[in-house]
Amino acid sequence: MRYEEVIAVTKENLETIFPGLGYTSLDMEGANVVLYSKESHKFLEDPEKIKKLAQSIRKRIIIRPDSSSLVGEKEAEEQIRKIMPEDVTISDIFFEHDSGEVLIEVDDPERIQAYNSQIIATIRKDVKWAPRIIRTPPIKSATIRMVREFLKSESEERRKFLRNLAKRISRDPLPGENYARLTCLGAWREVGRASSLLMTKNSKVMIDCGIDPSAVDTDDPASGAPYLNAPEIWPLNSVDGIVLTHAHMDHSGFLPYLFTIGYDGPVYLTAPTRDMLLLLLMDYIKLGMSENRKVPYKMEDVRSLIRHTVTLNYNETTDISPDIRVTLRNAGHILGSSVVHFHIGEGFHNLLMSGDIKYMNSWLFNAADSRLPRVETFVTESTYGGRSDFQPSRQEAGERLAQIVRLAAERKGKVLVPVFAVGRSQEVMLVLEEKYRLGEIPKVPVYLDGMIYEATSIHTAYPEFLNSNLRDLITRKKENPFLSDIFTRVDAPETRENIVSDVGPLVVLATSGMMNGGPVMEYFSNWANDERNFLVFVGYQADGTMGRRILSGAKQLNVRRNDGFKEVKIGLTVESVDGFSGHSDRRQLTKYIEALEFKPKRILVNHGDERNAVEFSRALSIKFGVESYAPYNLETVRLR
Ligand SMILES: [Zn+2]
Ligand SMILES: [Zn+2]
Repeated sequence: MRYEEVIAVTKENLETIFPGLGYTSLDMEGANVVLYSKESHKFLEDPEKIKKLAQSIRKRIIIRPDSSSLVGEKEAEEQIRKIMPEDVTISDIFFEHDSGEVLIEVDDPERIQAYNSQIIATIRKDVKWAPRIIRTPPIKSATIRMVREFLKSESEERRKFLRNLAKRISRDPLPGENYARLTCLGAWREVGRASSLLMTKNSKVMIDCGIDPSAVDTDDPASGAPYLNAPEIWPLNSVDGIVLTHAHMDHSGFLPYLFTIGYDGPVYLTAPTRDMLLLLLMDYIKLGMSENRKVPYKMEDVRSLIRHTVTLNYNETTDISPDIRVTLRNAGHILGSSVVHFHIGEGFHNLLMSGDIKYMNSWLFNAADSRLPRVETFVTESTYGGRSDFQPSRQEAGERLAQIVRLAAERKGKVLVPVFAVGRSQEVMLVLEEKYRLGEIPKVPVYLDGMIYEATSIHTAYPEFLNSNLRDLITRKKENPFLSDIFTRVDAPETRENIVSDVGPLVVLATSGMMNGGPVMEYFSNWANDERNFLVFVGYQADGTMGRRILSGAKQLNVRRNDGFKEVKIGLTVESVDGFSGHSDRRQLTKYIEALEFKPKRILVNHGDERNAVEFSRALSIKFGVESYAPYNLETVRLR
């Protein structure tokens, strides 16, 4: 249905379902219908009626208070505090003009539910703002604050953007035979610069636009980019949308760049992915500046990107073009990471893209979601898809790490763990906290350097995205493992200098995870030649990175630091503890395919080095008797 039709039909149905109830405007934002009313609370009195209306137009309906009816912020806040029961502690009240929502942060949201929902209804009736009760995050996040403030200041612009998006999504489909094809733009037969383009007769959708972590040292602004000069994606405004699987730079690092060369469409992602993305991109720009490295975009381009984000919840299906519907599912890899399901046409073809995926319960997340409807083509990552890539269990990995910390403590050495700020660092924190609590390691200070603490605070703000065990611990405050007193945040260069010259024993978790820059290099260049120390890798080291060179046995390296290059001899013990990986090993990847209820007819393999990708695709075609293939970058595969 086109935009105008949707609005007309909704109007008609409103009169029969809600006779006599007034509204001030009716519009579309993205794929949703939005109704504004001075008496918005009356529309919500009977949820069945809203459901009926939504079904009649096959769209989600959002009921918002008309802005002219909203009670002023100051007065509204006073009234809300009066309405709330006295034993509920409100830590913050935040007004979102974008949606007419008022976010009320309380210590214990369950308590409000126990008081019955009357409180919510009263707030909505008295101050007109739509209340949303959320849990006070155990650790305040500056990033989340920044995203909120920014979206608030951009609410007018965003409304316009979302209305235009609605018109674009609901345009008439073109006549003629449909088709579906996938163009490989990056991370095919390699790891890094992930990007693909799904094309149908009507639509183009890009999945991810990452950077190659090993190609950051040149002066060419587009070095390390996916093949953005491929003709399929031009003109850029022919791309209907971009779906981002998760915030890691090898999937997102070139997204802001697209906004510098003319892209101004939507970026679909989960809310935690949006917040993590802002954190990682800001860090990347800052680091680039301090290391005198060219970054192909500025902070204002990152702001453009955030302005164009459209957040989706897991398991929520949304139209993103005239013939493509998208659903994000938990991928188990990092906070907010998604497996992406594309439903093309009315059952014409179904494509599932794994992104980076972990099919095993981890310290942080549930295993990736395999309960999917139809899948004809499955694109799977293969980072650890090699014949011998079997990872130890998480228990074994935890035990190995504890052993190393005990050994280091005995020799008064230091343990340096290069980590991505997001994902592995939180896993390692949870293990160290547990081992310390159970008395399995001595109390040595654990320093967190380079965005790790801030990334952790974003994790605690989205407990619903964590596994249920951790969610319980975090919400029971006193037992929140991230708040353990073994952790110290490094937030000033002086602190770092003190740690560097400390005699130990101690543990440092520092970014970047593949040692291509970041604070980890400062520690490494000072500690590398001391035999008492350990360097412990807990994540994948891509070809061409400093991490891979060290892991391959390099004895001497020229290391880039803030003050220039330094020649470093490597005398410390280098260890790789594999069970922490956020990626599935070969066994888990295979099990995930087995767990899919609907067996795919075709499996494409990406995000693995050439040997792994090719070998894994052969093994899959034998095991499942399906067409399986590892395409090259720039290839286009016809899906149907
Ligand atoms: Zn990743
Ligand atoms: Zn990746």
